[in-house]
Amino acid sequence: MLLVDGDVDGPRFSGTDPATLLAVIVLARAARDALQGDTNNRCCGVNPLHGPSVDRRHVRISAEGNRRRMLSLCPLCLDSAVAAPRELRERMLTLPGPASPRVPCDEPEGSLLSVLGDGISRLVDRVRESARAH
Ligand SMILES: [Zn+2]
Repeated sequence: MLLVDGDVDGPRFSGTDPATLLAVIVLARAARDALQGDTNNRCCGVNPLHGPSVDRRHVRISAEGNRRRMLSLCPLCLDSAVAAPRELRERMLTLPGPASPRVPCDEPEGSLLSVLGDGISRLVDRVRESARAH
């Protein structure tokens, strides 16, 4: 609600940029899961819309070079990490970047979703911090 409506006493966010909408979906799903007793704090790092992660793996995320990141993975992406690791790179959820080419949804550093790899509770903290800062 802080993301969509803003603080009651503060200014309102537009709620229309893709990163904000993605954060709203991730937080809504996590809240629904928590109400059902599932307090898994991590969602899939390849695409947060895949849902909760089951394990973490080092994943090569760039076609050039050897850039790897430790990512939380959903069951489907975990299978791919073993069987077809190149597919993961193509499956990464990207969002429109400030200077065109699309970027992975948890980049750039400092963006709302850049903390998602640290867990959903960290995203909640980030939302509260940004709401206080406005
Ligand atoms: Zn996944």
